[in-house]
Amino acid sequence: MQDVHCQVLVIGGGAAAMRTAIAAHDAGATTLLVSKQTPGYSGNSVIARSGHSGPFGTPDLDDSPELFVADTLHAGSYVNHHPMVWALAAEACARIEELIAWGAPFLTRAGRIETQPSAGHQRPRGCYTVKNISTEVARPVRQQVDQRGIGMLDHIMLQELLVEDGRCYGAVGIHRRHGEPYIIYAGATILATGGGGEVYAQTTNVTGITGDGMAMALRAGVDLVDMEFVQYYPVVLRWPVTRLLASPTLFPLGARLYNARGERFMASLPQGTENVTRDIRSRAIFQEIVAGRGLHHDAVIMSLADIDEATFRRYAPDMAHIVDAQQLDYRTAQFLVRPEAHFFCGGVRTDAWGATALAGLYAVGEVAGGCHGANRLANNAFPECYVFGKRAGEHAAAAVTSHAASLPTTLTTRAYEHLRAFEQRAARANDAPDRYKAVRSALRQQMWDNVGIVRRTATLRTALDAIHVLADQAHACRGERPTTVVRCLELDNLVLIAEAITLAALTRQESRGTHYLEEIPEKDDTHWLCNLLIHQGSDSALQVRKAPVVTV
Ligand SMILES: Cc1cc2nc3c(=O)[nH]c(=O)nc-3n(C[C@H](O)[C@H](O)[C@H](O)COP(=O)(O)OP(=O)(O)OC[C@H]3O[C@@H](n4cnc5c(N)ncnc54)[C@H](O)[C@@H]3O)c2cc1C
Repeated sequence: MQDVHCQVLVIGGGAAAMRTAIAAHDAGATTLLVSKQTPGYSGNSVIARSGHSGPFGTPDLDDSPELFVADTLHAGSYVNHHPMVWALAAEACARIEELIAWGAPFLTRAGRIETQPSAGHQRPRGCYTVKNISTEVARPVRQQVDQRGIGMLDHIMLQELLVEDGRCYGAVGIHRRHGEPYIIYAGATILATGGGGEVYAQTTNVTGITGDGMAMALRAGVDLVDMEFVQYYPVVLRWPVTRLLASPTLFPLGARLYNARGERFMASLPQGTENVTRDIRSRAIFQEIVAGRGLHHDAVIMSLADIDEATFRRYAPDMAHIVDAQQLDYRTAQFLVRPEAHFFCGGVRTDAWGATALAGLYAVGEVAGGCHGANRLANNAFPECYVFGKRAGEHAAAAVTSHAASLPTTLTTRAYEHLRAFEQRAARANDAPDRYKAVRSALRQQMWDNVGIVRRTATLRTALDAIHVLADQAHACRGERPTTVVRCLELDNLVLIAEAITLAALTRQESRGTHYLEEIPEKDDTHWLCNLLIHQGSDSALQVRKAPVVTV
């Protein structure tokens, strides 16, 4: 067993974790970065596109933090945490400039950073790297971590926070490969574990994004916020390749969507265009597919015929590469696209410094909720990681370096209780060694079918009942190998966040942003201009309650 001590523990290995660790280290704290995969080489941060939005403006068009705030609140249907949005708007440009100084190759034009348009942003704000792949940013950031000699442990899955006397003192977990238990004691602990896309059968997310941080926070008595707001990416390619996300820039430039009958179906919607925010475009595509007007039952056609070649090649270099490799003409190609679960707008409830209500615990990046409200604008996720990573890292470092909380004597006993619970999962499962796989896939299908893009109260209830049954089955899953134990622990987390999403969705009796309730398709500001908080009671049951939107 490994006992490790540090001042600031950062859990995760994506953009948010790395930026947080840099900030905590630079502010003078002994910092440890612990990830269940490899920092800088894992999480959605390395399979993403490279879009980072900032209100830089263009030579012809001014932009401002105020306009950025207005757009982000509008897209989020005004249930966003306002101070977070202001912080994002005020600091996004500085964080992007810092990435450039660290070596990230963002596109420039005439000596200034180039900004591209996307739906919902009143000004062009999307900054992209040359190849439009997120590793072009993740690598230089990882180099910054390495240059500072920040402590790092990889392949450790942390599963429980160490909480005693109303304070968080670190976390407990196991090594994914050889199963060795780890107790990590820390003055401040920062969750940067990403979202939970794996809870849906159809997702853009990389494997391993299982809502761990959200589940850990819930079990530690910390509230989650906005869990009903799951964003679906509208245009994930099904042909000529799968899984690639069509760039949000293509729609303001003239990309069009057609159903199997050749109808431009979004032209008949009130907005009359495809250039709308992701919630509206996802729903329109999904409804076309459900109505039987999709191709091969699961996609619609995206046409790029109206975009000139130079623009296509500059703004969609990844798609240009694919059409060239397959000798296609992008003007006549019928790109097949469909929506998939993409981003958690909700998550751990924090303030604008990433601090939670539990002393010593912070959350940053996709694991945290509030900034995006009911719907995230394109390219606002990465700036969120960098802006709040820096803020939380500095805040946590200041707290631990100015006042070191001494460890309660009962802490080790608490840590051992958690470790014993992990040990019980490490057992031969003669009857069904792969049961966890079956439970996981039943859960993911349930969420996709009944808690997806278009929701109904009756099917949400069906899902909640099914999730309760699946939760019992999940907790009974065992595995001999450490990798299977880790998958079982992840499954515990998945069922918990599935329940949180479904409960919140059942409670919110209106449609807002990404939460669309078929029988109440309108927004109801009189009753629902509020946040929903999820809390785990002492009997383990989840409770939901309304809270006023934080505006100052
Ligand atoms: C295909 C795709 C394209 C995208 N494109 C864009 C874009 O262009 N612009 C934009 O703004 N956003 C984009 N996003 C969203 C953005 O990528 C994510 O929101 C962002 O990367 C989240 O960063 P993160 O650091 O919070 O989490 P992640 O990058 O997901 O990292 C999570 C890390 O935590 C680790 N971890 C998880 N659980 C544990 C645990 N229990 N113990 C230890 N470690 C753990 C994981 O191993 C991983 O290293 C995209 C997302 C996807 C899926």
